[in-house]
Amino acid sequence: MISRRRFLQTSSALLALTPVIGNGANNRYPFTLGVASGSPSDSGGILWTRLAPDPLRGGGMPAGRVEVRYRVCRDQAMRSTLIDDVVVTSDDKVHSVHVALQGLEAGRDYWYQFYVGEDESPVGRLRTTDPRAASARFALASCQAWETGYYTAWRDVAEWAPDCVIHVGDYIYEGGASALGRHRRGSGETALEYEVVRQHNGGEITTLWDYRNRHALYRSDPHLQAAHAASPWLVAMDDHEVDNNWAGLIPQDPWAQTEQEFRIRRLAAFKAWYEHMPVAQPPVIQGLESRLQMYGAWRFGPAQVHLLDTRQYRSDQVCGDGFPGEPACARRDDPGRSMTGDEQEKWLLQQLVRSEAPFNVIAQQTWMTPYRYASGDRYNMDQWDGYTAQRRRLLEAMHGVRNPVVLSGDWHCAQASSLHLDPEDRSSPRVAFEFASTSISSLCSWQDRVHEAAPDNPHVTYVNGRQRGYTRCTVGLDNWCSEFRVVDDPLSASSPLRTDFEFNTRDA
Ligand code: FE
Ligand code: CA
Repeated sequence: MISRRRFLQTSSALLALTPVIGNGANNRYPFTLGVASGSPSDSGGILWTRLAPDPLRGGGMPAGRVEVRYRVCRDQAMRSTLIDDVVVTSDDKVHSVHVALQGLEAGRDYWYQFYVGEDESPVGRLRTTDPRAASARFALASCQAWETGYYTAWRDVAEWAPDCVIHVGDYIYEGGASALGRHRRGSGETALEYEVVRQHNGGEITTLWDYRNRHALYRSDPHLQAAHAASPWLVAMDDHEVDNNWAGLIPQDPWAQTEQEFRIRRLAAFKAWYEHMPVAQPPVIQGLESRLQMYGAWRFGPAQVHLLDTRQYRSDQVCGDGFPGEPACARRDDPGRSMTGDEQEKWLLQQLVRSEAPFNVIAQQTWMTPYRYASGDRYNMDQWDGYTAQRRRLLEAMHGVRNPVVLSGDWHCAQASSLHLDPEDRSSPRVAFEFASTSISSLCSWQDRVHEAAPDNPHVTYVNGRQRGYTRCTVGLDNWCSEFRVVDDPLSASSPLRTDFEFNTRDA
């Protein structure tokens, strides 16, 4: 039996052999973007790679079909072969590869590798789920803006090698390149100084070509590749995979892009997202219409995880989109407004009612907990504070479900809180805990406003918008432990991480 540590040494040694982009030594090496696995079940999962010898300029593969060999082994040295097969890809999907594995055993590690001609990909690990296991470990992560920090946190995730990584969105950002070096945002005492440590490739992305090259840029990072190789992932997009704060078919700036332009942009973003993610289903595209199946349920030992999609079916934001919040207006309480759409809400409620799991996770994008900003009765209308009627319905449904836990991202600020039956009334019964991850690398330029407001929000036990990182979740039969990991020095790609705060639900 080979230890996890040994696997990581092997996989990082393989990563070190991957040629740097633009390196002339072997500029036809196709596996520049690494490998990934995802959507694990008790009998399989999805394996992913993409052939891209020239990843930042469309991939560099000639048009047409290519056969890709893959092997799945019981050992990380890739000696004990279980599956040795071939999958065909083509320029239709920019030579991305998705393999749906079936027939594996529950709760086991499997290692996989892809081959084209003489070239071998790095080796990745897929761990199947086991509904009977007494514990499970997840890394919760979101928001990895390329320019404002290194992916140091991903190195720590790869070393921890959890059963699954849950990424709740902002995998890429759509903006154009900024100048390298020091920047200052805002003025006076609230000004935030930050550093652009590396640059986006080109201007704001809008076309399929752009979205593909942006995904490739992000995926060229060795720490991100290592985290993908170390564990299977569950992924659901938030806004920046398409455009800031989009809702359904409505962009945040309808004066700057017509609905038709936004439809085409969203279609391109969905297609490129699928091409780079270890997910089962491609977008359904008919004419200019596109739809992605992102939400779903997975069972990991004591936890049933429901991953939601809160962008594709949501009602448009109301009451303004000022930062970090806007004065409350009556429209935010409109019962017809939804984050998920009716169909997804119905599906979620059915899943929760039927679940026999000791912990019931709702992993989604934005903060569910109410958060009142100190400058008055102000709330962030892009979060659940702008969709209060649906929040109330969900909390009523969660009351009576065993140990609901909400996981969130989006706000670049870590948070641990209690969710109450009447969310604005702490004396009403506690229904759930919420844990929000800070960003992997995105700035929280509103951090002072969040910290100032903490005393007005006593249901929130912990906030930290000042540091980058992710959250380690360890679930047992009667306890959920969240460890908030933070990067000591965001300007160093080799910075250590440490646990800033630990929350155990059995102590609360
Ligand atoms: Fe973000
Ligand atoms: Ca977001």
